[in-house]
Amino acid sequence: MTAVRNVLISGASIAGPALAHWLHRRGIRSTVVEKAPERRTGGYAVDVRGAAVDVAERTGVLDDIRAATTGIAHVSVVDAEGKARTGFGTGLVAPGERSAEILRGDLVHLLCDAASDAEFRYGDSITALDQGGDHVTASFEGAPAEPFDLVVGADGLHSNVRSLAFGPERPYRRFLGSYVSIATIPNRLDLSGEARLFNTPGRVAGLYQTHRSEGAKALLLHRTEAETDIDRRTPEEQRAHLRAVFAGAGWETDQILSDMDDAADFYFDSVTQIHMGGWSKGRVALLGDAGHCPSPMSGQGTSLALVGAYVLAEELARQATPEAALTAYERRMRPYVSANQAIADPGLAFIAPRTRLGIAARDALLKSGPLLSFLSRFDTKLSKASEAIALDER
Ligand SMILES: Cc1cc2nc3c(=O)[nH]c(=O)nc-3n(C[C@H](O)[C@H](O)[C@H](O)COP(=O)(O)OP(=O)(O)OC[C@H]3O[C@@H](n4cnc5c(N)ncnc54)[C@H](O)[C@@H]3O)c2cc1C
Repeated sequence: MTAVRNVLISGASIAGPALAHWLHRRGIRSTVVEKAPERRTGGYAVDVRGAAVDVAERTGVLDDIRAATTGIAHVSVVDAEGKARTGFGTGLVAPGERSAEILRGDLVHLLCDAASDAEFRYGDSITALDQGGDHVTASFEGAPAEPFDLVVGADGLHSNVRSLAFGPERPYRRFLGSYVSIATIPNRLDLSGEARLFNTPGRVAGLYQTHRSEGAKALLLHRTEAETDIDRRTPEEQRAHLRAVFAGAGWETDQILSDMDDAADFYFDSVTQIHMGGWSKGRVALLGDAGHCPSPMSGQGTSLALVGAYVLAEELARQATPEAALTAYERRMRPYVSANQAIADPGLAFIAPRTRLGIAARDALLKSGPLLSFLSRFDTKLSKASEAIALDER
């Protein structure tokens, strides 16, 4: 058994509480520090798929996830006037029993409840990590410094723990050539459990409504040739940028732009992956998006976070030393992570074709029989990637 008894986790979204749950089940104490002032709520739809369904079941939250499903069964692809050109059932890209879609806030809630034995500290953040011998001393914005046996960064794409232990984000980023924005806006189209997408070359606008939240979720994604610093600018500058890219594009885009001005949960970021040569340094480790964000275009970030938490806790309980546990965690997770990062490019090509011809070709496929084989090819790739890990390795 490892000497790890007391773990500090940064981030209380998906990976953090999932790890806290599994550490407790393995007899290891944890403290979770989250910069948000309280439990994160709301957010967009995320997927629990493949091996992550088994982890959710073992965690005891699968039935609750199914009960809180977004219920979106169909996606319509519409023209500039809002008329459906084509569409597809969500079951085509994610077979029922091996997947579930849930709002991120609902999942956070279930996982935090499942981790109620951990100590949660909201509204705080780690400011420094000092590794010495068999412990790491963490300093905090709002609490005295404390020693821990291990510190885990489960704090997302722009991980604080990663920058404290591994340095700036830049060398680990792989920009996928697009920016995405999402916000909750009024449900002006009276959508009910459905999604609509509108494409122009290199741009996609989407609206979806779930029975789990007020209003509708609006999504704007656009491709760009060069990476800029717009994701690090103010929300006002980001909104102005979106207006420059999307104004007059057609369908509901002007209304979405105007509604996004008032959205309290306006989100804007680059579509970026994180690639690192190793996910640990001494007694500091990375989990979920912090270590290997696959980007929203893979649709697998939530599943990687859940499965990674399970595997990391298992190896910490099983191996004799933290070093051996972190090596085993990485060995088991690497191929699974790589397979899921690899599906982001086809995902982006499907949702936001670059050219008119590309949009027409995709839509023709969606209307025809070969579409099914196209989608099922994507589905097979996605399904395979989502199952590409053995949970019960011995
Ligand atoms: C627009 C969008 C759409 C997406 N769609 C999908 C989808 O369809 N399917 C899917 O599976 N995934 C999707 N994802 C990805 C998914 O949300 C992430 O992969 C998943 O949430 C990763 O979980 P995580 O716990 O590793 O990180 P995150 O969910 O990013 O959580 C990180 C947590 O750390 C906290 N934190 C950050 N900094 C600090 C700090 N300094 N101190 C303390 N806490 C801190 C944050 O507040 C947050 O609570 C999407 C993501 C986005 C942005």
